[in-house]
Amino acid sequence: MQDIKSYTLTELTEYITSLGEPAFRAKQLYQWMHEKCVASLDDMSNIPKALKEKLRSDAANGSVDITPADATPQKVDITTITPVDIRESRDGTRKYLFELPDGELIESVLMRYKYGNTVCVSSQVGCRMGCRFCASTMDGLTRNLTPAEMLDQIYRITRDINERISHVVVMGMGEPMDNYDTLITFLRILTSPEGYNLSRRNITVSTCGLTERIREFADEDTGVTLAISLHAPDDELRRTMMPIANRYSIAEITEAAKYFFDRTGRRITYEYALVRDTNDSEECAHKLADLCRQTGAHVNLIPVNPVTGRGYAPTADDGVRAFKNKLEKQGINVTIRRELGQDIDGACGQLRKRYTGDLR
Ligand code: SAH
Repeated sequence: MQDIKSYTLTELTEYITSLGEPAFRAKQLYQWMHEKCVASLDDMSNIPKALKEKLRSDAANGSVDITPADATPQKVDITTITPVDIRESRDGTRKYLFELPDGELIESVLMRYKYGNTVCVSSQVGCRMGCRFCASTMDGLTRNLTPAEMLDQIYRITRDINERISHVVVMGMGEPMDNYDTLITFLRILTSPEGYNLSRRNITVSTCGLTERIREFADEDTGVTLAISLHAPDDELRRTMMPIANRYSIAEITEAAKYFFDRTGRRITYEYALVRDTNDSEECAHKLADLCRQTGAHVNLIPVNPVTGRGYAPTADDGVRAFKNKLEKQGINVTIRRELGQDIDGACGQLRKRYTGDLR
């Protein structure tokens, strides 16, 4: 089953003309959904009633999915996700818990910076990558999100704050490269000039390092930035933190990262969560600097966010600064990710866990 909010403009035009409607109607619908971010067909003032009925009856006979899968009484006519909890932190960060049409829950985070509004988007309900420090993966993967469900996180937040979102990071729940086709459609729609028109340069996709997908992504030439969650500079240590390291070695990741840089001209970022007495030694900094030189990568450091039941403690502030200095002395470009929203379960997947009852 399909959902018109997940259609590219070309696909939507095909569908609308197949209904015997003029092509410009597709563009109007697309603009309502993706530029004006309306939540319902009812709000689309220049769409004739007859076409709305046609779309609704197509939904009813199942040829296009504009009602929720289980056709619950609160009838929606284009896939829209619903905020069930919004928490605002002292630093202005807002954490949204969204309910999907089938009742599943996902998290999105709004971070406010001087240069604009960033939304951290989820790509799956749960995750099957199993990183030991991460809350999102504790119950495995429930399902992939659809393009509409990824897009609507940005649209609902835009409407909530009545401001445009300037930056998007695909760093919420899930592994985006494990939901690859959806990721590509999401990026196409999000950056399309007839839609939200978000600048490619302001989008970052983060992966734990699925190397075949990284190469495919490089060939796709989406123009977005790629971040790779490295977290350890050698395979042995990385395997203790990330099960995926049993499948892909750091040498393979390095090759894929080089390929990405050669194909796109865009430097990648290595994400590195500092865990006390685990990956924050001087030796680790040296090895990490070597890896960065091989690929021209930047480093994004973050003290690991402690997750209940995980037993990983963050490196203290002075340790974080020392690690940064060591990298910088070797000519590596380093940023420290500000820990926003700690007072509102800012760490990955924690707000949802509180709701599903696993965290008190
Ligand atoms: N699956 C993708 C994107 C989602 S996670 C990935 O692995 O990159 C986004 C980032 O948050 C990743 O770098 C991930 O390793 C990191 N992360 C997960 N749990 C964390 C925690 N408890 N503390 C700090 N960073 C964490």
